[in-house]
Amino acid sequence: MLTTLEKILFVLLAGGSLYYGGKRFYDVYRVISRGKPDPRLDNLPERIRRAILIVLTQQSVFKTRPIVSVLHAMVFYGFVFYFLVNAVDVIEGFFSFQARGGFWNPFNLMADLLTAGVLVGMIGLMLRRFFVRPQDFAFAPNVPLQPEVRPGIVRDSSIVAAFILFHVGSRLLFTATRLVSEGADPFHPVSSVFAGMFSGMGPGAVEVWNHFFWWGALGSILIFIPYFPRSKHIHIFMAPINLALKKPNPGALQPMDFENEEVFGAAKLEEFTWPRLLDAYSCIMCNRCQDVCPATNTGKALSPAAILINERFELNAIFPSFAAGQESPRPLLDFALNEEAAWACTTCNACVEVCPVGNEQMLHIIDVRRERVLAAAEFPNGLKNTFNHMERAGNPWGISADERLTWAKGLPFPVPTLDQNPDPEVLYWVGCAVAFDPRAQKIARSMAAIFNSAGVSWAVLGKEEKCTGDPARRTGNEYLFAQMAAENVAALDAAKPKVIVTTCPHCFHTIANEYPQFGGNYQIKHHTQFITELMQNGTLKVSASADGSMTYHDPCYLGRHNGIFDQPRALIQSTGAQLTEPQRNRSNSFCCGAGGGQFWKEEEKGNERVSTNRYRELKQTGAKTVATGCPFCMRMITEETAKEEEGAAPQVLDIAEIVAKNLTK
Ligand code: SF4
Ligand code: SF4
Repeated sequence: MLTTLEKILFVLLAGGSLYYGGKRFYDVYRVISRGKPDPRLDNLPERIRRAILIVLTQQSVFKTRPIVSVLHAMVFYGFVFYFLVNAVDVIEGFFSFQARGGFWNPFNLMADLLTAGVLVGMIGLMLRRFFVRPQDFAFAPNVPLQPEVRPGIVRDSSIVAAFILFHVGSRLLFTATRLVSEGADPFHPVSSVFAGMFSGMGPGAVEVWNHFFWWGALGSILIFIPYFPRSKHIHIFMAPINLALKKPNPGALQPMDFENEEVFGAAKLEEFTWPRLLDAYSCIMCNRCQDVCPATNTGKALSPAAILINERFELNAIFPSFAAGQESPRPLLDFALNEEAAWACTTCNACVEVCPVGNEQMLHIIDVRRERVLAAAEFPNGLKNTFNHMERAGNPWGISADERLTWAKGLPFPVPTLDQNPDPEVLYWVGCAVAFDPRAQKIARSMAAIFNSAGVSWAVLGKEEKCTGDPARRTGNEYLFAQMAAENVAALDAAKPKVIVTTCPHCFHTIANEYPQFGGNYQIKHHTQFITELMQNGTLKVSASADGSMTYHDPCYLGRHNGIFDQPRALIQSTGAQLTEPQRNRSNSFCCGAGGGQFWKEEEKGNERVSTNRYRELKQTGAKTVATGCPFCMRMITEETAKEEEGAAPQVLDIAEIVAKNLTK
């Protein structure tokens, strides 16, 4: 038990620590509150339940880096239990109570083993960071970094590691000194071993060490609490909140209120919505997101991790004044990212998917793009043409709507428009890429063959169909997107489709997830889903006669954004082909490089094209055919195959083409 003087000292220290720590935590709250509104409190009980599940199972951590994840789990579970351990230690220090025997035996055993777990885990993580120094923690020289980032990360990691080792190590030795007089305890197997270190000392010396380690275990927390808000260790509190308040579908971008919003997008920290600022405080600086980012992987100036880490260090630098409501001193483009980085993102969602703390890195970039396009009017030249085409011709190609049914010419059966078939079972949303790209037109022809073979009553909008607005939305031109969305919703409402089927994942994503923001609620299916249903209900028959191997490239807007992974694979296998997966597949798939408006502009400077990186991996499977379910992916991969010598490249086919080739009736 503590002496009276120690008790007074502890109470004073705890009061001071909680006062200063609490004040700083409150300031963090005020910083996050500086962000613009973003409603995230719907369905709160379910959000909390989900976050607790993710945190307790550590499932978001275990998505990648298995060894590091095990080490992190050892530290995490130990720390969760330490909330209890610390409370019990304080009670023991203040009162003549001893947590021994009966119920306390399993508690002590657990505490002892988890103590060892935390120490092993922490030492492992430290060895990795400071001695193994894997590339995971490195930033490419062309990635802009806030000046404090490099020294700050090392300093913060060292302080956090030192705190954990001292705090938990002291607790271990505190127990060990107690066991010198009590004797070895089977419920303290680890501490009993360390008790031997003190066995040669006199009782007075052991008592001094006992008090020293009690203070080491608990006093260190009080000293650390005020530092918490500056440290990445604050993720202990912020990550669960962030996971609970995460958007269910981050790719469904937030609409803008042009009537009432005073600033468009974000030029400065305070112009972000509040979840962006929470992201910066939740980031554990693990760089997992840059590991999977197609832009980082191909040498562009974009690292999603760097954006959030830069923001966090900038917030630390301006902390009290920003919390108090002062304007941040400089624009995001001066410290968080540069123009190149902002325009290198393919909006593939890989960063969001892999982040263990639920950050939405991609949305930081979208906010910056919105400001660039809507306020600064500074954006890549390629996009200027694209926006013009969309405004003028209703599609990014700038081709007349009269050409929308060119793909249907020469088919041995008619392609009905809504005028000819006003009440179809299926409205086929062709999409601009499939309507205008000569290679992709074969996808529409295959779909037409499939509809006919299955006896589906179908129709197309024909000239009435327009671009969904997807390229405008991903590149920050929310104004243009809102216009196109409103026009399309009006057209679709008039058409009253029972089911919309589309062959383009970008159209699918926009209509399914974003048109509801504009009052458009439709049942929409990607063609891989629809064809699967036709086969399951027996209306479409396919022969399993395809030979040879196929690999499948998951389009980002079909897989990661919308969770459609199984149907395309099942369809490939239904044709008898042997499916060989590329190394990065399903939710870990690697972008083709077309998304996020990249298709419509020059790719930013880097060491290779994103599509080259992806194609290399697809080719390494040795498959004769690369299958995909997106006309943009098809185009990007096909352009890569065109660089090969004749006969050296696999053929690239859409799932609809593969199915259509194998129809039996
Ligand atoms: S969305 Fe994709 S391209 Fe954009 S930052 Fe994230 S991982 Fe990189
Ligand atoms: S944003 Fe997420 S994945 Fe990226 S460094 Fe931070 S915690 Fe890691």
